[in-house]
Amino acid sequence: MSLKKEVVLVIDDDSRIGGLVEFHLEGVVGEVQFAETGETGISVATSTQPDLILLDIDMPGIDGFEVCRQLKHDVTTRDIPIIFLTGETETHRIAHALDSGATDYVTKPFEVIDLQARVRAALRTKRLVDMLRIQARLDPLTGLSNRGVLDDALAAQVAEQARHAPNFAFCLLDLDHFKAVNDSYGHAAGDEVLREVAQALKVNARPYDVVCRFGGEEFALLLRNSTGAGAKEAIGRMLQDIRQLNIAFGESRLSITASAGLVMVETCDESLTPERLLIAADHALYAAKESGRDQLVAATDTAVTEAAAIHAKRILSS
Ligand code: GH3
Ligand code: MG
Ligand code: MG
Repeated sequence: MSLKKEVVLVIDDDSRIGGLVEFHLEGVVGEVQFAETGETGISVATSTQPDLILLDIDMPGIDGFEVCRQLKHDVTTRDIPIIFLTGETETHRIAHALDSGATDYVTKPFEVIDLQARVRAALRTKRLVDMLRIQARLDPLTGLSNRGVLDDALAAQVAEQARHAPNFAFCLLDLDHFKAVNDSYGHAAGDEVLREVAQALKVNARPYDVVCRFGGEEFALLLRNSTGAGAKEAIGRMLQDIRQLNIAFGESRLSITASAGLVMVETCDESLTPERLLIAADHALYAAKESGRDQLVAATDTAVTEAAAIHAKRILSS
């Protein structure tokens, strides 16, 4: 569990409430922030990303229900749990508060142990959800990003490229004769190879590149802001490190090679799609396998255009 102390934002037009909450939550949370209008509350929540929001319903300007609606509508704040501070126990207002996306409610005047327990419960759930969100984007075997991360990154990169045309490279990398590793040394040895290969890729990539396990013994690399020469050099280093792995497994030592297919995107192309990039990289990878494996093949300039034609044909025939 993280030792980071959580931040709670209180949005209430009555400043005494903020002070009281801060007093009661001392030792339960790390910091209490305050906002006295719905509008300020939304902007503080957006910029500081608190771990929990305590939200009053009746406020001048936009009320708590509307604040909640707007926070739940915005991707950057929608996962922050909200506990409503309700002035009374009218069931229909409480139901409305929960239906508008709140996690819980506390009635004013608060019972200290009730407030503390509900805050602790909301933070516990938030920590769990945060952890699951991180895990959902990682490949459990290698610790690399998974296919979901790549899909999001490619979509963002392609959209960005259509506007500003920054150069980038996309590469599919596949281990050679990997089935034979499993057959000769067992599945556990194969798993160890995958972990070591993942490391070899990661150390040769830059922090802003996306290195992902694409599936099975295939990996995908999105090298942002990369020139053709730079991308070739980086992937060349990766292939060289994989070649030199020499992994000890029981009495034996095993070695492995990989083949890679690279596509460079260097011009502004509004018709570019992640699907076309994948087809083009896959073709280059196939060419690397056909030419004897253990090498990098870069797609020709026309590869993405050809991939577009293949993609169009697939759509027409499906
Ligand atoms: P090629 O050089 O043509 O790529 O040959 P290959 O043997 O690498 O390719 P093939 O697609 O025939 O076999 C891939 C193998 O990868 C088969 C599958 O059992 C193995 N594999 C996929 N995922 C895992 C995994 O998570 N762990 C282990 N140990 N093996 C895996
Ligand atoms: Mg494969
Ligand atoms: Mg393979």
